Amino acid sequence: MAGTGVFADILDGDAFKYYSDGEWKKSSSGKSVAIVNPTTRKTQYKVQACTQEEVNKVMEIAKTAQKSWAKTPLWKRAELLHKAAAILKEHKAPIAEALVKEIAKPAKDAVTEVVRSGDLISYCAEEGVRILGEGKFLVSDSFPGNERTKYCLTSKIPLGVVLAIPPFNYPVNLAVSKIAPALIAGNSLVLKPPTQGAVSCLHMVHCFHLAGFPKGLISCVTGKGSEIGDFLTMHPGVNCISFTGGDTGIAISKKAGMIPLQMELGGKDACIVLEDADLDLVAANIIKGGFSYSGQRCTAVKVVLVMESVADALVEKVKARVAKLTVGPPEDDSDITPVVSESSANFIEGLVKDAKEKGATFCQPYRREGNLIWPLLLDHVRPDMRIAWEEPFGPVLPVIRISSVEEGIHHCNASNFGLQGCVFTRDINKAILIGDAMETGTVQINSAPARGPDHFPFQGIKDSGIGSQGITNSINMMTKIKSTVINLPAPTYTMG
Ligand code: NAP
Repeated sequence: MAGTGVFADILDGDAFKYYSDGEWKKSSSGKSVAIVNPTTRKTQYKVQACTQEEVNKVMEIAKTAQKSWAKTPLWKRAELLHKAAAILKEHKAPIAEALVKEIAKPAKDAVTEVVRSGDLISYCAEEGVRILGEGKFLVSDSFPGNERTKYCLTSKIPLGVVLAIPPFNYPVNLAVSKIAPALIAGNSLVLKPPTQGAVSCLHMVHCFHLAGFPKGLISCVTGKGSEIGDFLTMHPGVNCISFTGGDTGIAISKKAGMIPLQMELGGKDACIVLEDADLDLVAANIIKGGFSYSGQRCTAVKVVLVMESVADALVEKVKARVAKLTVGPPEDDSDITPVVSESSANFIEGLVKDAKEKGATFCQPYRREGNLIWPLLLDHVRPDMRIAWEEPFGPVLPVIRISSVEEGIHHCNASNFGLQGCVFTRDINKAILIGDAMETGTVQINSAPARGPDHFPFQGIKDSGIGSQGITNSINMMTKIKSTVINLPAPTYTMG
């Protein structure tokens, strides 16, 4: 159970503590933030509402801890990360339980998230050992006007203090995808977990604590993003921000100082379906891509753009599969579980009502109980409907019928977002041409969009993000190049 056994230290009465200077602490604010269970809509957990002074202290400690961590041999950093990964996997059950209770993640998926996160940490340790040991050796006579009098040696150096802010939907996985690269590269790390997902994150952080990382190297401050978010992201002690979430990231990128930013934001991933596509494969991918975790995935299929000639057949196949989705509590491993909050459910309902008023065809009746929304396929959606452009982050999927491939590409590219997209066709030449024309960070051919495997580069363009994730890219992003130039008194040429 959450907060028991090896995790007993992180709980004080009914509130979970925050982590600073290698210890679990109560906030001096005396206040806590409630985490509402999306299924019961009752307070499930409480976390500390950290103060600005506590944030200042964490930043100060993180700066000091980073200096000695940067001098810790790479193999030792990797060894500790492997240890943390093993501890995390060993304690997957209580962490998964917290994911079920605070974000209504279906029980099996919750376990998968924790295990996947352990694998990510291990892979990151191994990748770091390889790529951080490499630099460049350049000689000066390649550039006109120079002789071979200078040797330039480059190496990758850490940035300092990395601030990590993950979203609610994969709180553990998207936290470790920032923590592990930051640490292997020699940075210290301050985590601000999402409020819904904070308890899972605190358990995950305790696994790093149990692995024996130095005091102060990792900290975790809790509190509402709307209250301490600006103070954290504009803090002068922060040298890099790695953020995943919605439009909040756009605001942060405007406020942050002159520091490297990794922003993984929203998406409106389009699924373009051609006449020659294998419609059973498409339907299976629309279900997996559009409705897994009730559509609350950045890479969910968020709009289907299907050629008119095969639209009826595809819609029938998807409808048949929607009818088989189970709807209910996450504890029962239901396919569709309650969305994260009442405000989120209200937002989704607003998109549905707008589509209804403007004449979309409802393939199922709209049904909602509390935060639980039944899966809904909306056919004959037109560009004047909000659902054609906005990210519902729920189990509602619009279908737009197109009369040409160009129309599909145009809709995809007219979006503010550019995370992923997918195209279904048996013609690889067409797939490549369409994929090249889609203005997105990734295009999947004959499969739904997906963030994994976690070592693949993952990036959005336009409002979907800045920079690129994926283990190797994150390690590189959290380092800077430093050059040492050896100036020789006379040209010298290395002989064989
Ligand atoms: P969100 O509302 O933007 O919140 C993300 C994080 O930002 C949370 O930890 C939140 O804390 C924090 N936050 C809120 N206000 C802040 C502020 N002023 N300064 C700093 N941090 C602040 O997003 P969400 O609802 O958790 O997640 C859903 C969104 O994430 C969707 O748009 C989805 O597409 C996107 N997403 C993108 C990716 C990707 O890789 N591209 C992956 C997953 C999700 P609180 O919880 O305390 O408010």
